[in-house]
Amino acid sequence: MNAKQILIYDTTLRDGSQGEGVSFSLQDKLNIARRLAEIGIDFIEGGYPLSNEKDVAFFREIRKHDLGHTKVCAFGMTRRKSMKAEDDPGMQALVAAQTPIITLVGKTWDYHATEVLRVTLDENVQMIGESAAFLAKHAEVIYDAEHFFDGFTANPKYAIETLRSAASAGATWMSLCDTNGGTLPERIAEVTDHAKQALSDYDVQFGIHCHNDSELAVANSLAAVDAGATQVQGTINGIGERCGNADLISVMANLALKKQGYAVLSGHSLQSLTELSRFVYETANLQWRNGQPFVGQSAFAHKGGMHVHAINKASKTYEHIDPSLVGNERRILVSELSGRSN
Ligand SMILES: [Zn+2]
Repeated sequence: MNAKQILIYDTTLRDGSQGEGVSFSLQDKLNIARRLAEIGIDFIEGGYPLSNEKDVAFFREIRKHDLGHTKVCAFGMTRRKSMKAEDDPGMQALVAAQTPIITLVGKTWDYHATEVLRVTLDENVQMIGESAAFLAKHAEVIYDAEHFFDGFTANPKYAIETLRSAASAGATWMSLCDTNGGTLPERIAEVTDHAKQALSDYDVQFGIHCHNDSELAVANSLAAVDAGATQVQGTINGIGERCGNADLISVMANLALKKQGYAVLSGHSLQSLTELSRFVYETANLQWRNGQPFVGQSAFAHKGGMHVHAINKASKTYEHIDPSLVGNERRILVSELSGRSN
């Protein structure tokens, strides 16, 4: 049986840049984008073209590079209230970015529509539909359903109505966001499954976008994949606002090496993951996390004498994978805990 390909959507350059202490220059962004394309990431979200000049420049410069199969995405909000989509500067900036994909974020939680946008529930649905319809004339549209899981819990009928509005306007992806990062894996699976069923009359695919506030962003992403999502959004090393996003390093490694029946990076090897992780830390001027799963310096470091003795005989005694599969290496540490084997 062929493995099911799960597409990887990287938002290091947009959501990742919201992380405390992270600031990418234009050149940093271009370097990261090129590196992500080299390892076979499917989608790269470059930024928010209305928000700053640097992001506008990024979209202008990145067009000059051949990124192979990787598609660049511009990110932006639905049109403003009481304005036509085509007259909205945000919509115009998205089109002017000239990307093959536009990721449109909209409110799916009734509370956010009325309290944050201060529009009626009907107008919010219209804002989503009209924005998606306008953008779909220029690019493929991914609809990012902000606060989808909280919105669904508060008002399931309305949350689904917002998705239907985007889908009937021509958006081809429904990306379900756990924006506040508070949802548990079983709930992610249940709600994703429900959304899929509720939109079964549309030709759309599902994505998942998780934040890590409950330290479950990776587990939640995998749960959504099991429920039928075929795109996972996240950042390299999980960098991002508050507690960060789903760490795509762990998402990719778990999907490709642990879970049965899934593939990522369309044939590219995972062996560049360790190098990619360190490249992003260095570019972001952040410290490596030694204990980071799969790619951290300590992920395959062995210190206790008994472990070292066993690992020298058979590596799988204390290693869940062969470290070289993700480009990492085993380290034997010398300490007062060492036995005769180290
Ligand atoms: Zn996010």
